[in-house]
Amino acid sequence: MFKRLHLKLTAYMGLILIFFMFFIATGIYNFTRMIFDDGTKEIMKSEAVRIHAYRNASMTTSIFEDRSFYQSLNTNVILMGKERLDACYVIYNENADRVHIEGGSTWVADNLKTLADLSLEEKSDSYVKKKIGNFNYRIYTKYFNDTEESSVVQVYVSTINEDILWSFLRTVLFIFGLTGMVALLCISYILTGQAIKPVKKTWVKQKQFVADASHELRTPLTVIQTNLDVVLSDDEGTVEENDVWLDNAYSETRVMAKLIDHLLILAKADANNEKLDMMEFSISEIVENVCGSMIVIANNKNIDFQMNIEEDLIIKADYDKIRRLIVILIDNAIKYTEKGSIKVSLFTEKNKKILIVEDTGIGISEKDINRIFDRFYRADKARHREGGTGLGLSIAKWIAESHRYILTVESTINVGTKFTLKM
Ligand code: ADP
Repeated sequence: MFKRLHLKLTAYMGLILIFFMFFIATGIYNFTRMIFDDGTKEIMKSEAVRIHAYRNASMTTSIFEDRSFYQSLNTNVILMGKERLDACYVIYNENADRVHIEGGSTWVADNLKTLADLSLEEKSDSYVKKKIGNFNYRIYTKYFNDTEESSVVQVYVSTINEDILWSFLRTVLFIFGLTGMVALLCISYILTGQAIKPVKKTWVKQKQFVADASHELRTPLTVIQTNLDVVLSDDEGTVEENDVWLDNAYSETRVMAKLIDHLLILAKADANNEKLDMMEFSISEIVENVCGSMIVIANNKNIDFQMNIEEDLIIKADYDKIRRLIVILIDNAIKYTEKGSIKVSLFTEKNKKILIVEDTGIGISEKDINRIFDRFYRADKARHREGGTGLGLSIAKWIAESHRYILTVESTINVGTKFTLKM
């Protein structure tokens, strides 16, 4: 499923990038051509003007026989940047007679005559590209309306070098585009892979969570069914006589209720639906209150319960959630301590309020300690202990993190465990 999604995303992302690259490449190409065209047009136009001006100035001295005129034209002819553009020109009088031709063949000039005729007829300039024979030419035809007589100056240049340059640019862009496309596809494959990773991880985790939850719900349900089966098969028996089985079934319903309660909290936490109801209250009071109700259970197990609680420590937090966290920690301490003692301390240290719940219970092995905050994780020794859901510490951790508090654990197997909450 994720493989297909990965490929699909790569394809979409790749397509977008390829389109983007295509538009950039064609944009660069067309823009360069446009600039070049405009630039050439301006140069050819000014050259036509220059030729015309020079011709007018030299009219009196029969310029077409004047060598300096040709020299002047040939040395100055159309400069593009510092490079000389190999241009040719033709001059027509107002009767469209060719009065002078320079630099090109008569045959090409003949092919351009229609443009000069049109310019004289419409009294306008034109700038065209035309194929004559095997070559393309840029032709600028400039109309001059002088007082004595109108004339036309036609400047034209072969685009053979330019065409080679454009075709080279096209090839370069194509090769770069192709290699860029392959590179972009590889990059998008890697990037989409990275983007999918957390989704995949969450999905696997969620799947595991659902499987674990179903399994955990099944166990108490089976116990209830088995116990009730025994009760049902005893037609004659009274309620008192079946007290044990009914009691078993009842206590399992409590386990189920607790499990469902925990599952709901985590489901809401996952959906980010659980809002914190922040208020100021005395954490000292809650800790005392929870200890007060738990001390009885500890005493029943002959566990020594000690408290060292600093008075009137005020925090701003979600009252119910903080209470739940404290219950989870103290409940675990009692659950996982057979004999010995439990100590609950609350104090201030370097502007931080610190709650420590420590016990001299079974402890947690090194291999388990990093996983006890995972959902449904129970250390082997305690795996089948009554009443545990394996969700308590994940809820405690989530509550701590949602308040930006830090919950840590230190433990030595068969020595004891110490949970520290830094607020
Ligand atoms: P459970 O409902 O099983 O107690 P928790 O999430 O509260 O689930 O705890 C996860 C596991 O961490 C427990 O199953 C137990 O193995 C271990 N654990 C938690 N608290 C203690 C403790 N105080 N001493 C020893 N082990 C503990």
